[in-house]
Amino acid sequence: MFNDLYQAVILDHYRTPSNVGQIEGAVQVRNDHPSCGDKVLLSVLVEDGIVQDIAFVGEGCSISQASLSLMTEAVKGQPVSVIRDLYSAFRDMIHGQEPDEELLGDMVALHGVSRFVARVPCAMLGWETLAQVLPLDQPAPDPDPTCGPG
Ligand code: ZN
Repeated sequence: MFNDLYQAVILDHYRTPSNVGQIEGAVQVRNDHPSCGDKVLLSVLVEDGIVQDIAFVGEGCSISQASLSLMTEAVKGQPVSVIRDLYSAFRDMIHGQEPDEELLGDMVALHGVSRFVARVPCAMLGWETLAQVLPLDQPAPDPDPTCGPG
């Protein structure tokens, strides 16, 4: 499914995930992907438009748990505007586009998931949960129609 390097990154994060736990006073959201058995309780602490802290308690397949671990590392300390870019780049990669490696860093290890449609929700679980807390799904503003030619 994956090449060895990517496999190692995923297994590493699956076996020893980063940012495991619950955060006192944070927004907490539960989510799951029942057809695979993936579950997560995500805690997100946002102050001044910045994710000051993030943690998760999860169970499920290596893809879902590694993706959660990688996501929490990537977004911790970041402003929501940057996280929105990460989310959209990650989602595009998981849906088959060539990844922006500079932006996504270790998360490119999950690029191979794009070839396995059934695993896409595993990789997206953490991000979709985060999108319930942060306004990540807002599309870019439409170009002002009054500024068109004519
Ligand atoms: Zn899964």
